[in-house]
Amino acid sequence: KDAGVALKQAKHFYRGQTVRFAVELAEAARDRMQLLSRLRTAFSRDRLQLHYQPFIRLHDGAVIGAESLLRWKTEEGHYIPPDQFIPIAEQSGMMVALGDWVITTALRWRASLVGDVDDDFRVAVNVSLMQMREDDFAEKLIRCLHSQQLKGHQVEVELTESIAVDDVTTVKQKLKQLRDHGISIAMDDFGTGYSSLSILNRLPIDRLKVDRSFVSGHAADEPRFSMAHTIMELAANFQMQTVAEGIETTNQRHAMGQTGCSEGQGYLFSKPLDEYHFREFLRQSHAHP
Ligand code: C2E
Ligand code: MG
Ligand code: MG
Repeated sequence: KDAGVALKQAKHFYRGQTVRFAVELAEAARDRMQLLSRLRTAFSRDRLQLHYQPFIRLHDGAVIGAESLLRWKTEEGHYIPPDQFIPIAEQSGMMVALGDWVITTALRWRASLVGDVDDDFRVAVNVSLMQMREDDFAEKLIRCLHSQQLKGHQVEVELTESIAVDDVTTVKQKLKQLRDHGISIAMDDFGTGYSSLSILNRLPIDRLKVDRSFVSGHAADEPRFSMAHTIMELAANFQMQTVAEGIETTNQRHAMGQTGCSEGQGYLFSKPLDEYHFREFLRQSHAHP
């Protein structure tokens, strides 16, 4: 059993290397199994939710879209952060079903806003590696788009650099299929991955999301916002739009505006909100833009 644990670790994280069994390994593996089984139960009991965080147009403060973010509220009432449970769902293969649910829920939510928001208000969904590897990923998304009677420009797919470079040829073909239906593609957490810049040439990407470490994190300070600035110029050269992630202060908002960034997202405007509070947020922002 111990050898099995070490072998599994080696296969997942240390290909081609040796892993020596340690008690902590077994404990970590057991914790993950427990979390996975709790996650399965939570999913089957409909205890997962999506929250939505607004995208703000920086020059006039208009609410022009939102990113959907998974939330898991346990029976005890506390939230387990997606950074903890998504990797586990990924490893177990559960992420495909979970991702389908996210897409259906987010698109249904967007459809429910018709009349309350502008036509081009978009909902963004995060897509994981396992979903992207599914042959019919694009078809499923397009089917959902039609069944909710949405237009392509009302939906955006966010993927990270590591997903984009997994298998560039097939990823490209899937993204093109989405694009042909008007769905836009955003590169998430841009600047933190290890992809080469040529990926921007090879894939159809509409928007770069500047990682929050360059906006409000440690990398924003030295030298002041120069990374963010460089990314904005890069995006402009490739005719891509930009979103600054993690704007927390008015200072950062103005700095991002000055770098030529068109949109922002962050606690300064709002945390991710459940459906009810998002509607409240929309009402208030109509009243006091
Ligand atoms: P992400 O896609 O980059 O999402 C942005 C994260 O930054 C969210 O964390 C959001 O709550 C947080 N954030 C937003 N504004 C601020 C700010 O001003 N300051 C700070 N410090 N943080 C801010 P969250 O919700 O914990 O999600 C973490 C990550 O989990 C996401 O990063 C995404 O990679 C993943 N994730 C969330 N939902 C899904 C999903 O439905 N599917 C997949 N595949 N991944 C998801
Ligand atoms: Mg995202
Ligand atoms: Mg991000």
